[in-house]
Amino acid sequence: MVERQPRVIVIGAGIAGVTTGVMLKRAGFDDFRIIEKAPRVGGVWEWNRYPGIACDVPSQIYQFSFNPNPRWSRVFAGGEEIREYIEDTATSCGLDPHISLGLQVESAQYQDGRWRVRTSDGAEDWCDFLVAATGLLHHPLVPDFPGRESFTGQVVHSARWDPSIETAGKRIAIIGNGSTGVQLLSALRDSAAGVTLYSRHPQWVIKAPTHLKQNPMLSKLLGAPVIAPAAYKAGLFASGILADVTLNPTWRRRAVQKLARFQLRQVRDEVLRETLRPDYEPLCKRQVISGSYHHAVQQPDVTVLRQGVRGFTPDGLIGEDGVERSADLVILATGFKTHNYMRPMELVGRDGVTIDDAWADGPRAYRMSAIPKFPNLFTVLGPNSPTGSISLQYTSELTARWIVQWLERWAAGEYQTVEVTERATDEFNDAVREAMPDTVWATGCNSWYFTEGGSIDLWPFTRRTMRAMLSKPEPEHFEFTH
Ligand code: NAP
Repeated sequence: MVERQPRVIVIGAGIAGVTTGVMLKRAGFDDFRIIEKAPRVGGVWEWNRYPGIACDVPSQIYQFSFNPNPRWSRVFAGGEEIREYIEDTATSCGLDPHISLGLQVESAQYQDGRWRVRTSDGAEDWCDFLVAATGLLHHPLVPDFPGRESFTGQVVHSARWDPSIETAGKRIAIIGNGSTGVQLLSALRDSAAGVTLYSRHPQWVIKAPTHLKQNPMLSKLLGAPVIAPAAYKAGLFASGILADVTLNPTWRRRAVQKLARFQLRQVRDEVLRETLRPDYEPLCKRQVISGSYHHAVQQPDVTVLRQGVRGFTPDGLIGEDGVERSADLVILATGFKTHNYMRPMELVGRDGVTIDDAWADGPRAYRMSAIPKFPNLFTVLGPNSPTGSISLQYTSELTARWIVQWLERWAAGEYQTVEVTERATDEFNDAVREAMPDTVWATGCNSWYFTEGGSIDLWPFTRRTMRAMLSKPEPEHFEFTH
């Protein structure tokens, strides 16, 4: 039974924010708001609407355990279908009255045991607990290429796609060959007049049936009440194998890496094959999965350049080889400023410490969720979240349930404010650092996993460890006021 109701503000209505809302509601906490700056629910799936967007994780794993969807149209669902699923989940779980859309949190300041939150409409609100579910693949990385203003064609970043952009019949240049660039190339090649891909560091691409439709018989089967949880568990088990492959240098990792190398050998033209060949181990960067990339790059209207871009000209781009190549449309598939969590929001914790001060050397948290000097604040999918291995929905649910346990203790009157200690945060981060050298992410490539301080911002432990760390609060790692 809830003795007193904490007021909670959740920032962000993507996977992490919706999960948090559902967990709050299920625990009987009804005094909460979810503030989302986008016009619709969906987080990363709302912001990213470029042609060909899809999830390269099978949908049976990429879903909430509390709302399994037996009817995905494809084994790897498209972006808009995933966004609608997140939105439908919010509605069916009763979150709509709690969500404010098109509203940005501009600042949050800790004052006298509570958080004062200011939003873009000039309003002010207060809460006992602040939950940042702001995501990491959010702020587009837009390189400052010289001459951009002189370019007479169109330029767009993949994460801010404008649906009015015409791509058919255009000469398209794509800068970047991560998961996004690869999906864009495959989707646009058919109708464009030609596509040139600027691939500064080629990435390994593993082939999977990313366009496979979900069989209606399977949908029917997955709709059966006993099958759905079993399928979800099987999916989690499979993702555990992926985690093992990334974490431990065993024969399983070597087998997957062999597969990536073997699949590259299917590109017949030797020069193209060498152009595509990365100079680091497969799986080191976030693995790119595609059923169509190796086919697409072998088509005559596609040019892959193993180089970056020097700048724009009025007619196109100049590559690092000094050659100008014309383009009507330049797509920046250049990724994200991944460690900007919560910024540019002005976040001020205890004693006036800002998040920029606290994270001058890069993001640092306790078990992905608590930050010293920021009492009664939690993050969901915060620093060290396992974006490279374990299901994000699983991690969000576990973290949100852990946060709910803190609220239950608050509701029972056990404390007024809770703050993780520096010592517990250091111990966690030391353990992360010690575990990292065995991971595939530390085998010698540069990727968005690395922070400014040179550490790898991922989860280097198993799912079981995550469950152990987040199954219940450990009060000895925290300080309280009463
Ligand atoms: P990304 O993996 O960070 O790739 C960015 C690309 O842009 C890289 O090839 C990078 O080259 C290039 N680049 C950046 N700055 C450049 C510059 N100044 N000049 C030339 N090239 C430059 O970004 P992303 O492809 O958007 O993917 C980010 C993450 O989003 C993925 O890793 C994945 O986690 C997620 N994602 C998931 C899906 C999915 O299907 N689930 C789909 C899309 C994205 P360098 O390598 O040389 O830096």
